[in-house]
Amino acid sequence: MSDLTRMSAAALAAALRGGDVSSVEVTRAHLDRIQAVDPQVHAFLHVDGDGALEQAAAADERRAGGEDGALLGVPIAVKDILVTRGMPTTCGSKILHGWVPPYDASVVTSLRAAGMPLLGKTNMDEFAMGSSTEHSAYGPTRNPWDLHRIPGGSGGGSSAAVTAFEAPLAIGTDTGGSIRQPGAVTGTVGVKPTYGGVSRYGLVALASSLDQAGPVARTVLDAALLHDVIAGHDLMDSTSIDVQWPSMAAAAQVSDVDGLRVGVVKELGGEGYQRGVRDRFDEAVRLLVGAGADVVEVSCPHFEYALAAYYLILPSEASSNLAKFDAMRYGLRVLPDDVAAPSAEQVMAATREAGLGDEVKRRIILGTFALSSGYYDAYYGQAQKVRTLISQDFAAAFEQVDVLMSPTAPTTAFKIGEKLDDPLAMYLNDIATIPANLAGVPGLSLPSGLADEDGLPTGVQILAPALEDARLYRVAAALEAMLHERWGGPLLDRAPELDAAA
Ligand code: GLN
Repeated sequence: MSDLTRMSAAALAAALRGGDVSSVEVTRAHLDRIQAVDPQVHAFLHVDGDGALEQAAAADERRAGGEDGALLGVPIAVKDILVTRGMPTTCGSKILHGWVPPYDASVVTSLRAAGMPLLGKTNMDEFAMGSSTEHSAYGPTRNPWDLHRIPGGSGGGSSAAVTAFEAPLAIGTDTGGSIRQPGAVTGTVGVKPTYGGVSRYGLVALASSLDQAGPVARTVLDAALLHDVIAGHDLMDSTSIDVQWPSMAAAAQVSDVDGLRVGVVKELGGEGYQRGVRDRFDEAVRLLVGAGADVVEVSCPHFEYALAAYYLILPSEASSNLAKFDAMRYGLRVLPDDVAAPSAEQVMAATREAGLGDEVKRRIILGTFALSSGYYDAYYGQAQKVRTLISQDFAAAFEQVDVLMSPTAPTTAFKIGEKLDDPLAMYLNDIATIPANLAGVPGLSLPSGLADEDGLPTGVQILAPALEDARLYRVAAALEAMLHERWGGPLLDRAPELDAAA
């Protein structure tokens, strides 16, 4: 059998189904790979080798008993913002150091039910605030394409794990782009489902009206197979949508774009976007035209204000959601120096001072201000109105076209440290991904090639109307096939070998 870690999830599932390999063998191969390369990549905050192998053995038994789930026995990595029973969950923050959740997130319950061994928890920007994974309290993750560069964020750990062949699949979460932007800069597929499509129960909330968990994978079909496992109505999440989702995997195998109406978003491109990112985007559009798609330019005039609205709405919700980290209920508790009998408030202040990083504090302060009486209408209230205008832009656009397209991120992976001291420069990475979160529509980032100037991966974003997630997979699968032809195979085949001995 060829190197198990190089195989797609779909291929692994086929091999498991055919009895060519066991889940224990597949899981062990990935654990070995993690051991060999993760000291360089640092995609994982926690690896659960014993647990994963036990779950793999159970998956093998289920197969032996005649069961045949689509991903039964295929291992997976999970972003450390989803709670996992008995396994540490830190959200990349010191304040949750040592906390072991007593329950599973619904997404994790779905993975377990599907028989997917959990390899461990992946690194992330603290409480999912960031675009580079540099805001993790446990040190940055490195981009396997170039270890001096960022893997995107906040879910850089999940994307790097999949890129470095440490896991065939991973779960990410996307509040403003944290699945799609890491996908773009690592050359992997990342999907933000329709808001409410995947349960948020047990997903530690950053901004509840924006957060959405979704698949991280190396191929469109793999992402679709995983999407099918985690999507569905959940009574534990009041914003979960009660619909019967079509099979995303089936959509990913249609791959037909003849007659498809594609809108290129005028406001998401051009100035501020790196040359090579734009070139690869234009090339992807030309491929779609060649395959019979009708491409038009579409204007979404209010997208210009999306970033500003997002950086009021997100901090507002975050300031409220993060208030629960009060030193009483979870993880860290720091007693203030020089106080003989500290009050609860003093303990809370000392704990939050020591336990939260700069970016988190910055946003809590911003959000508290934006929600304060006297400023609420001027900031939070205005941002909510902009949000409505952005939804209306989407609605108008989707009357003309079936899908919208843009580059996923304005640049390829930047260097570690390059934007760390400049929050606004960091925020601009999500300029193209944020509108989808504000409107709740689904989005997929597909690797579109390598930029000529630096040889690093670029991504195209495909957006569809709410509930039309399957359409993303149909279009992305077609484009992926054409891009594989253009690049002579999957992009990741061109990634440099990591020195396993180092
Ligand atoms: N980078 C964006 C932010 O910092 C998006 C984060 C996310 O999607 N979790 O808020």
